Amino acid sequence: MSQLAENIAKLEGYIARFKDTGVLNRIAGKPVPAKSGDTFDNFSPVDEEFICKVAKGGAADVDAAAQAAKDAFPAWRDMAGTERKKILHKIADGIVARAEEIAFAECYDTGQAIRFMSKAALRGAENFRFFGDKAPDARNGQQLPSPTLMNVTTRVPIGPVGVITPWNTPFMLSTWKIAPALAAGCTVVHKPAEFSPVTASILLEIAEEAGLPAGVWNLVNGFGEDAGKALTEHPDIKAIAFVGESQTGSMIMKQGADTLKRTHFELGGKNPVIVFDDAKLDRALDAAIFMIYSLNGERCTSSSRLLVQSSIADEFLEKMTKRVNNIKVGHPLDPSTEIGPLIHKVHYDKVCSYFDIAKQDGATIAAGGKAKDGKGWFVEPTLFTGASNDMRIAREEIFGPVLTAIIFDDEADALSLANDTQYGLTGYVWTNDLTRAMRFTDKLEAGMIWVNSENVRHLPTPFGGVKASGIGRDGGDWSFDFYMEQKHIGFATGHHKIPQLGA
Ligand code: NAD
Repeated sequence: MSQLAENIAKLEGYIARFKDTGVLNRIAGKPVPAKSGDTFDNFSPVDEEFICKVAKGGAADVDAAAQAAKDAFPAWRDMAGTERKKILHKIADGIVARAEEIAFAECYDTGQAIRFMSKAALRGAENFRFFGDKAPDARNGQQLPSPTLMNVTTRVPIGPVGVITPWNTPFMLSTWKIAPALAAGCTVVHKPAEFSPVTASILLEIAEEAGLPAGVWNLVNGFGEDAGKALTEHPDIKAIAFVGESQTGSMIMKQGADTLKRTHFELGGKNPVIVFDDAKLDRALDAAIFMIYSLNGERCTSSSRLLVQSSIADEFLEKMTKRVNNIKVGHPLDPSTEIGPLIHKVHYDKVCSYFDIAKQDGATIAAGGKAKDGKGWFVEPTLFTGASNDMRIAREEIFGPVLTAIIFDDEADALSLANDTQYGLTGYVWTNDLTRAMRFTDKLEAGMIWVNSENVRHLPTPFGGVKASGIGRDGGDWSFDFYMEQKHIGFATGHHKIPQLGA
């Protein structure tokens, strides 16, 4: 049996139970259907086959979940950080034990290739360990004595929070938001993306088996415009951690205004990779290809605009075209596959529409530019050349395996092109000139920049974007800034003079 056939047989074992029961909501520790009884069908992007029915939650389900999170909050908040740490580590152990099941289900539900998803599942476990280790110190503050007062600060968890996640790497992203929330002492209502609901329910099952008290983490499936919207408007939900499109972030801000919701947004990107002629060009080529074509290009931090210096552009683009034509598109469970299908027909239609847009705008399709025949939402990895920064292919987030290459002459030109975008999530700079790297990164408008490197995530560092790419930071202690409130308490150290009115 080939490795692919073996993996498909295993997958069937892993997802068979969802065919019987569907994906349910989980509220106060119990799997439950939507109160309305409504469901929606979930299909795989790989072969367009039916996977399972999914509970179609709405406002009533969100209300029940918010109530459960509110009821569970005081005990979870007051549990010693060392105890929360133990539970978070047990969740990590549970993820590791079921990493293959998670990775396989994720591949079939999203179309992401197994070579990346097996690591993403383990990254999920790491998120729980990292923030679990921080739980005992989460409430720590400062002493700021003044002449008459001993001022101390402490942090307290904000309360029940809503977590809304997208479909691109749903398992990893859910852990990324939920682990710090739990470590901080918050309780959670999670609304995963409707296109990829399967692994969110496995994750919560693992958490409850690890001893997470009922109601601390609740799951409501459903669509953004009803379950998602209701969550952002619920008065008992104190904050919304959102990962998704910039336009949705803007809607959530409006929806949350009446209840003065605190929001944290990780949004879209049109990230530049800038290659100067003095760079190590082979490494730059590897990294630029990896950062746009891995994860099907459905990656917020993807380097979707290649800015390459004119003196090396021809040679660099020729090499790149050869490599892009060589990328292996195939079944996500085939270990040799580099690109799987896009998440859904809706998204596939959007990505494919840019092939015509590129031609109309006068760019050249140097590689790809077509959908693949047959079942599933497969597209060819695509490279646009002869592009300028004012074309739609350079301005809009395509969110597929599609790269737009633009040529620049000098550093000033590169900087102005790089910053001429509504987004500002990441930037990748390739140069061997240290002073140029310092100068350039200082002026580059992005929340995260890598010099002579692809995106290598280090959990203690801040993660987030500027401009339309986001508000707020995750990672390290920054996550606690969002999930916790700072509190100041001043203790009088003596009998200082108190102003006497009406004395
Ligand atoms: P999306 O904004 O369409 O959906 C994300 C989530 O929001 C889903 O769960 C959806 O149901 C929900 N939603 C939709 N409308 C809502 C509303 N009115 N109120 C509340 N919730 C609502 O995004 P997507 O298409 O699922 O994901 C792709 C996007 O996510 C891309 O733009 C990508 O760049 C971004 N993303 C950003 C990061 C980051 O860290 N910056 C990471 C991953 C993905």
